[in-house]
Amino acid sequence: MSIAKNLLEVQNSIPKNTTLIAVSKTKPVEAILEAYKAGQRIFGENKIQEMVEKYHELPKDIEWHMIGHLQSNKVKFMAEFVNLIHGVDSLKKLKEINKQALKHNRTINCLLQIKIAREDSKFGLSINEAENLLKSDDLQTLKNINITGFMGMASFTENETIIRTEFKTLKNFLNSSKIYTSFNFKPVTLSMGMSGDYKIAIEEGSTMIRVGSAIFGIRNYI
Ligand SMILES: *Cc1c(COP(=O)(O)O)cnc(C)c1O
Repeated sequence: MSIAKNLLEVQNSIPKNTTLIAVSKTKPVEAILEAYKAGQRIFGENKIQEMVEKYHELPKDIEWHMIGHLQSNKVKFMAEFVNLIHGVDSLKKLKEINKQALKHNRTINCLLQIKIAREDSKFGLSINEAENLLKSDDLQTLKNINITGFMGMASFTENETIIRTEFKTLKNFLNSSKIYTSFNFKPVTLSMGMSGDYKIAIEEGSTMIRVGSAIFGIRNYI
């Protein structure tokens, strides 16, 4: 199977208004170019350094999304160009993103990562922690970020009921979070769904899916 063909297959299986992020982590620029030539313009990486290198080598009309666990000390390397940071899980990180965005005279879009899976190995805020963040006075001072929604990862399980329930939790939180009013909080995006579960995620209200192996094949690492 070719990358272009895989890409087309995924595109044809999702609604037009669902945003597809092609997750290209660990894949060489040649593979990304193949997807690019087939029309894909949004790519997701989980390591800042790797994303920066690819950004410099690849066409400038690509939108880069940081989907991995965020290290504050590396935010500065991507602040100039990153389009959306999915994995924000603290006010401290929002402050760092705001500071680096300001240096480039930009506003950086962010999603709060919410812990919806049962496994406690997954990163993210609990809903309660996210609510406290959204209520905090500090948020009102961050002029160079926009929180545009939430990101979540379901449990790694074959049990569809569990996956569906976890996605529902995030969708409900998106709806109920609308009571929090900050000029930089505009909750519209729900980033949920990967190769194994994106169809369920879309049924449960996802607006943005992050698909790697279904497009690029199995990753070259464990
Ligand atoms: C790797 C990764 C994906 C894509 O996973 P696939 O199963 O290959 O589609 C999605 N989201 C995050 C946060 C990832 O790290």
